[in-house]
Amino acid sequence: MTAHTDMLTSDVSSSGAKRPLAADANRPIALVDLKAQQNRIRSAIDGRIRTVMDHGKYVDGPEIAQLEDALAVRTGAADVVLCSSGTEALEFAMMAQGIGPGDAVFIPGFTYNATASAVLMVGATPVFVDVNERTFNMDTPDLACKVNQVKKAGKLNPRLVIPVDLFGLPADYPAISDVAQEFGLFVLADAAQSFGGGQGGRWVGNLVPMTATSFFPAKPLGCYGDGGAIFSQSREQADILRSIRWHGTDESHTESVRPGTNGRMDTLQAAILLVKLTIFDDELARRRCIAALYNERLGDRVKLPICPPQTQSGWSLYSILLDDRDRVQAALTDAQIASAIYYKQPLHQMKAFKAFASPQGLPVSEKLSGQILSLPIHPYLTDDQVHHICDTVLAAL
Ligand SMILES: *Cc1c(COP(=O)(O)O)cnc(C)c1O
Repeated sequence: MTAHTDMLTSDVSSSGAKRPLAADANRPIALVDLKAQQNRIRSAIDGRIRTVMDHGKYVDGPEIAQLEDALAVRTGAADVVLCSSGTEALEFAMMAQGIGPGDAVFIPGFTYNATASAVLMVGATPVFVDVNERTFNMDTPDLACKVNQVKKAGKLNPRLVIPVDLFGLPADYPAISDVAQEFGLFVLADAAQSFGGGQGGRWVGNLVPMTATSFFPAKPLGCYGDGGAIFSQSREQADILRSIRWHGTDESHTESVRPGTNGRMDTLQAAILLVKLTIFDDELARRRCIAALYNERLGDRVKLPICPPQTQSGWSLYSILLDDRDRVQAALTDAQIASAIYYKQPLHQMKAFKAFASPQGLPVSEKLSGQILSLPIHPYLTDDQVHHICDTVLAAL
């Protein structure tokens, strides 16, 4: 955690730029600009891809171990295991913990579908927990309440909690870990959106015993296809994960010793991520500046995403709450500014997960899905473009 420590502790501060309206302010603005990023690193990417073509180890090439080591060094995790997607990362982590039929897995109701579908895929039962209205992350008092309900009903074993770091903000791990300890739950972080975030002087990836992340192209650190990783604080557990991603085989990949599947990351994707990792801190710094600028400009008029003390967001999305969300989004669309609604529907209302909803519903998750709006925060936005976005939002209120 050496070279990165100051980025973890320094406060977000805006560039403080003045605002002459620049020519680029009126061009269409994307939610994520992978083209601008590619222009910056294209020759390095081409070089890395050529290296893979030359050595020909398309599966389990040297770039896999190289990236696993680089990610372990960067996050402080004891070990990192690359895999084929963020969803597989969640599933493999649960398999390594022996989670399956009869087990209750506590997840927020306000997150991406994968958190819940992964639970179903290992045969366990999702129990939906409501979220905090200001952080959008798992509400700790409701977690305790839901665990008690499951215990009282006596049908399922409360085994695991999967907090999600929504929009890049790490969940309240100190509080959640206390509840987990009280009830004997294992904590697995769904950090698909929060690579680069931190809490209490540690990086995402090393906040709890196991962390799953995604390298889907639009995530803060993305490859050119699907990819994921599990960060583990235990080397023994990482060995089990390496076995699971390769048909449950032993170290020589011959005898299957446990259930497993083909869930490896392609060498090419690791090669691409090695290049993207070299500019990640610079991109993260820019995202933080943009967030500070949004906070400054929008502060008095809309509900901003909050960042609790001791916590740094990875800022994969900048999401605000609006009473008249649809009018603001229409104004943005008219101005050719991309925006997105994550998530229009809380999980416990979806067809596949309805059966697991509690009769009381999840009042905060339900309310947020009607008010949330995510604005562009990719690192290639100029200050002028951010001002243009803010002007458009403020004019539509
Ligand atoms: C993207 C995402 C996932 C799944 O990652 P994939 O790589 O797309 O499988 C899981 N959880 C959350 C919260 C996500 O945003």
